[in-house]
Amino acid sequence: MIIFLSHGCDNLYDTKGLVCMEGNPPMDASVTKAEKCARLIKESQRIVLLSGAGMSTSAGLPDFRGPDGIYRREMGVDPESIFDIDWFIRDPSFFYGFHRDFLRSLEKIEPTFSHNFFAKLEETGKLSGVITQNIDALHQRAGSKRVLEIHGSVWESACMSCGKTWDYEKSVSMAFSSNVPRCDSCGGVVKPDVVFFGEMVKFLEESREMARNSDLFIVAGSSLVVTPAALLPSLSGGKIVVVNRGNIEERNLPGARVEIFADEDIDTFFRSVERWLC
Ligand SMILES: [Zn+2]
Repeated sequence: MIIFLSHGCDNLYDTKGLVCMEGNPPMDASVTKAEKCARLIKESQRIVLLSGAGMSTSAGLPDFRGPDGIYRREMGVDPESIFDIDWFIRDPSFFYGFHRDFLRSLEKIEPTFSHNFFAKLEETGKLSGVITQNIDALHQRAGSKRVLEIHGSVWESACMSCGKTWDYEKSVSMAFSSNVPRCDSCGGVVKPDVVFFGEMVKFLEESREMARNSDLFIVAGSSLVVTPAALLPSLSGGKIVVVNRGNIEERNLPGARVEIFADEDIDTFFRSVERWLC
């Protein structure tokens, strides 16, 4: 366990061997907001992160499912049909053809600076957990322990008949070893733990509870368009920080409690924040 702000330079990561920059951070446009964000992190004890697609695309993962994602743009396929649960039940091979491309892309990328930043913040005891709209399990790969994946993820898969589950490694190997993976116990079709269109989101009550208990709610890489995730920041009684490149849907945000809105690259922003945490 790292003790936050315990001694000397008070570097958040000093026991992890990461370098704390000497002197003042460079003066760029993000400094003021980053400094303020660092101060909010220091003052808070129950921080919650909501991460969206921007976290994944900054890792180099193409946008597959979005309205302008590559399924539609390059393949001319409606992503809603790929992730339609009725379609999956009729013909799971259609989904698996695309799913293998997604898994190949995942294998090529690593968690970003920001994924690691929040994993380490959890180690300090300041971060209660991560709520994510992403299905790529990059938060877990970075070391995050409490991750509520409201749209599910590829971290696990399950038999649709008997409920038997498999971990990430086994799920990937099964997806590549047969056209449609089958359960070794009952022969049922195996489905990744991803929420399809027509299925309920996951962990909604736990996410709401975590948001309610937070004293600082950070949104990273989400435009806050897709509900119910977009409604979670408003449940927090604490201050809100939004870091997202591009427009966001402000209708769902309690404006008076939004301390920072940074229309910036997520990794650039949190690198600056880390310098101010020293
Ligand atoms: Zn089974």
